[in-house]
Amino acid sequence: MPKWSINDSAKVYNIGNWGADLFSINKKGNVCVHPTPNSKYSIDLKVLVDDLIKRKIKPPILLRFMNILEGRIASISRVFKNAIHENNYPAKYQTFYPIKVNQQRQVVEAIANFGKKHGLGLEVGSKPELVAAISMSAGNKLPIICNGYKDTEFIETVLYATRVGYDITIVVEKLFELERIIEVSKRTGIIPKLGIRVKLSSKGIGKWSTSGGEDAKFGLRISEIMAAIESLKQNGLVDCVKLLHFHVGSQITKIDKIKNALIEGARIYVEMRRLGVNLEYLDIGGGLGVDYDGSKSSYFSSVNYSLEEYANDVIYQVKNICDEAGVPCPNIISESGRATVAHYSVLVTNVLNNNTQTLMPDFEHILADNAKLSPTVRKLVDIYKSIDRHSLREDYHDTIQLIQESVSLFNLGYLNMNERAHAEWVYSKIIRKINSIVEKLKPIPDELQNFQLSLRQTYFTNFSLFQSIPDSWAIDQLFPIVPIQRLDEKPDVLTSIADITCDSDGEITSFVGENGRTKALPLHKIDVGEDYYIGFFLIGAYQEILGDMHNLFGDTNAVHITFNKKTNYKIDTVITGDATWESLKYVQYDASEILKRVRNNLETDVSLQKVSIEESSHFLELLDRTLQSYTYFGE
Ligand SMILES: *Cc1c(COP(=O)(O)O)cnc(C)c1O
Repeated sequence: MPKWSINDSAKVYNIGNWGADLFSINKKGNVCVHPTPNSKYSIDLKVLVDDLIKRKIKPPILLRFMNILEGRIASISRVFKNAIHENNYPAKYQTFYPIKVNQQRQVVEAIANFGKKHGLGLEVGSKPELVAAISMSAGNKLPIICNGYKDTEFIETVLYATRVGYDITIVVEKLFELERIIEVSKRTGIIPKLGIRVKLSSKGIGKWSTSGGEDAKFGLRISEIMAAIESLKQNGLVDCVKLLHFHVGSQITKIDKIKNALIEGARIYVEMRRLGVNLEYLDIGGGLGVDYDGSKSSYFSSVNYSLEEYANDVIYQVKNICDEAGVPCPNIISESGRATVAHYSVLVTNVLNNNTQTLMPDFEHILADNAKLSPTVRKLVDIYKSIDRHSLREDYHDTIQLIQESVSLFNLGYLNMNERAHAEWVYSKIIRKINSIVEKLKPIPDELQNFQLSLRQTYFTNFSLFQSIPDSWAIDQLFPIVPIQRLDEKPDVLTSIADITCDSDGEITSFVGENGRTKALPLHKIDVGEDYYIGFFLIGAYQEILGDMHNLFGDTNAVHITFNKKTNYKIDTVITGDATWESLKYVQYDASEILKRVRNNLETDVSLQKVSIEESSHFLELLDRTLQSYTYFGE
């Protein structure tokens, strides 16, 4: 057999297709992260994680590669710049970061810093996000766009922010908001900067398609826009309307859906200009997708277009429609969240050692002497001994039937515990033997394709699916998962990944594989005492903020890393994950109250001589230490 190489691993995990040239495997067999696509420089993830552990930063660790983030912002601006150039587009492009994708202060701060030279702005959808954006904008004058529903307090805050010098566009989502805006503007004498969100009839596609279309939650219908324009004209505010906005949903998988929305949006822009609204901006919202599984398809974890194609289509379609109508082209704004931040963060954590083989009973003897075996077990042993290529299918069916029979016989009292254990043991030997035969068959017979699932072993992994990749649970989204070491060895255990919550939903059984979606993740057999790490990739968008505290597993440790020529990398920021007391605080427990209560109770028992002073104080010490420690598995 030819030796396993790192190229074989790259294929098995499909890295070349989803990695956007940012991830590769080095000669040592470790996953590497490149600061920019295809860069000759790289950071060895395994070395990095070992170094972080030396620094006492424990897994799970969320790694944020700030160069990648910077690179994505630059790429999105660059592809639009190129498209503008190629199409002779007579206006500008500006990127807005929708902070709902990740509102972490340190992340938004970094984006604001990198983004300044690209004219980046911030998009917000709620009062807390507005306040966050105002704080980030203070001093560096980033423009802000406000979407989402707004109450009077929100509107008043935005108008006063405008008065004191902030550049904030308030987008009208509903007619009632417009009435409020007009009222507050009259009362305060402040002239707002307005946008109008239109409800397109073009829909997106996939999980988020209801963000667009006529039944969408947000935006004004055409007739409502006409009413809005009329009302703004009557109140002398029509010149405040600078921006037309639409958003047809996130992760739009097909380019033609984007084109349809653009054509309709651009037509509305043109018609509004003709009605005397001096629009300057067309804001095309988000929706730019990420190819999570690397299949370049319209499957919902993928996209059938590239960044360049997206930018080109946007610029081309808008120009075409404006030129035809003889109306000046608008400046283009896009609010790409997912495509900006998905790539830059990776969660790395350890697989909790599964090596229980040493504890397993060895029933090898039943193969030699089958006289005393129950008939069911004996039949299984016979199959095990005789199975070959030709009898494969029949033997597989008989095996399944016999293992079911063993359970029925056990339930009826005809098989004891020991005999059922024998049946289980032979069964797993048969399955492994079948697999060694199946592996050599090409193509694998249809009915045996699902067979490999019976070989799948559960790898328990030190993380919470609900905290770190909630979309995997909520909407079955695929995220690439790759071991960060030993990729020069064949990963020959088929696994599913279970988290450490007590929820049976906390398991991943669908993976990115060589031919798209697979039902088992190949990983290595873990050696005794080995620290074996796996990485979850492309998790930078939405996962952190949507993550919840199921079982009170809290925020993970997060580390910001930049590439550095001299030392390879530099740690910019370490954000310590929640300690147990912090998790408990979210549900209104107070650490010192807890200790006080337990102490009081112990003192009563000490006074009754049920517990010694030493035992009591040792227990309190342990409890205190647990309160201070990370919510995830330690040693
Ligand atoms: C969520 C949202 C975005 C971001 O969408 P992505 O698909 O992540 O780029 C942009 N604009 C609005 C109005 C949104 O609600």
